[in-house]
Order: sequence, then structure tokens, then C-alpha cells
Amino acid sequence: MPANPTPANRAAAVHPNPWTLPPPPMYLPYIPTNNILCLSGGKDSTAMALLAYHQHFPNLRFLAFESEWEHPQARITLDWIAERTGLPVERLTPVRGFNYYLIDHPVHRRTDPPGSPPHRHGYGWPSMPTRWCTRLKVNTLNQYARQVPYSVRWVGITADEVARWGKPDPDESTCVKWHPLALAGIEAKTTLDICNHFNAPLAQHYKHYPRLSCFCCPLASLATHRTTRRLYPELWNTILDLDSRVTQHPSAFSHGHTAADLDRIFAVADRQHLLWGQDA
Ligand code: SF4
Repeated sequence: MPANPTPANRAAAVHPNPWTLPPPPMYLPYIPTNNILCLSGGKDSTAMALLAYHQHFPNLRFLAFESEWEHPQARITLDWIAERTGLPVERLTPVRGFNYYLIDHPVHRRTDPPGSPPHRHGYGWPSMPTRWCTRLKVNTLNQYARQVPYSVRWVGITADEVARWGKPDPDESTCVKWHPLALAGIEAKTTLDICNHFNAPLAQHYKHYPRLSCFCCPLASLATHRTTRRLYPELWNTILDLDSRVTQHPSAFSHGHTAADLDRIFAVADRQHLLWGQDA
């Protein structure tokens, strides 16, 4: 197989592959849809991009959001996709990164009179009920898609995640979403097989992590944090630094612990060879 096949030889390079995505919807006959594929660098959206590319769907645009919290593996995968397909991955960088919203963004109470000083600075770490990070990301991607005529925004949700479909999305009316993996019946357990089929550089990552998320995602498991501390000490130091600067928000970093607490706990566990979940 050529390391970097051109569009002309790409079909011959990887067939046969047993997975087929349904064709995207069209607005009107003869008007080509602009297919915007939102990529995270993780296995689900990478599988979606590779299948779409190898099925020759027209007008594919690869899009990724840059928040400052990407795991280094995300950049590796996105660069590989661009090289493998010959299609650029456009990076959307917001005016303010997630560090700003975590620490510095002025926050007002709804009941505060106009012009009053901020109640505090920084949203603090995201939690399940307050995933401000996800909303900022989705809003930015939707805003981009709305500016592209006849666009459909592809989302790499798998068939076993369809429960997420039911969530109301205020942007749905103006940004058509397309969920080809779920429609094709492809489940999360299969997407890594698809990535491996195309030799995407993700196998090692998923040996250590259950998913590819932001390196400092406070919703990640303790085992995931411990893995980051062990495999990426420089990222763990960044987490410690960020958490030490979240001074005006009451919630701790993750699972009720500060990052410094977790650092001490993991250090003791490592010294005593106590396993805190199978994270490696
Ligand atoms: S991975 Fe975690 S921190 Fe990153 S956007 Fe998702 S919920 Fe937020």
C-alpha cells in the first residue's frame, strides 16, 4: 500500500473494506452538498473521515476545533489524516482558548444589575451539568457550517450512542447534522478496527486510554488521569499549574479532588504498586 495514496489510487489501496456509509442528503437535485466533517482526532471521527474519503463522497471538508486542551495524539492523528487523504484539516481557533474561560472570563450572576462588577473570574472546571467547553466547541463548529452554503455537518456519533441524538440542539434548525456511523449501524467497538484497517496511528493511544479527550478533561476517570501523569508528565504538570490558578471557583478539578491531591494519591499508589483500575 502506498504511504500516501493520491485520489487516483486511493480506492485500490485499501479495498476491500466491509464498511459502507450512507450517502449524505442533498438539498436539491444537482446542487452538491458541502460535507463538513468535524474531526477530534479520536477513533470515531477518524473512521468516519476515512470511510467518507474512500467512498469518494464529493466536497469533503475536514474541520477541527483547537481549544488549547487537545491531547497531543489529536494533532498527530489530524496531521496523518491530512497527509493520508491529501485534504487539509482546517483548524478553528476561537478568539479565546479554554484556559481563558477556565480562569479569567468575568462571570456575572443573572440577578446582578447591569454594570455591576463580576461575581468571579473563570467558569472553573467543567462538570457534567456545566459543560461550557462542549457548548463553546459546538457553537463554533455550527457557526462555521452555517456560513457554508448547502452544508451538512457530519458528526461521528456511533450507533450505540444514539441516545445522544435526542438532546435538543438550539442550532439544529439552521445547521443540518448528519450521523453516518450511527445510520450505518457502526458501533464504537468497531471504529478502532476501521482506523487500524487504514493504518491510522491510533492503536497505541487506545492501548492506554479508553478515549481521546482533552488532556485535562475533569470528567475523565481517575485511571485516565493517572495514565496521563505516568505517560505525559509535562501534560500533568500543566494540569497542576492550571488547577492552582483556578482560585475563584468552588469545585475541585476532578472527582472531588484537586490536581495536587491526585498527584499525591497517584505518587503513593505508584510507590506501593497499587493498581487503581487497569489503565495501562
Ligand atoms: S473532553 Fe472534557 S474538557 Fe474537553 S470538551 Fe469534552 S467535556 Fe470538555
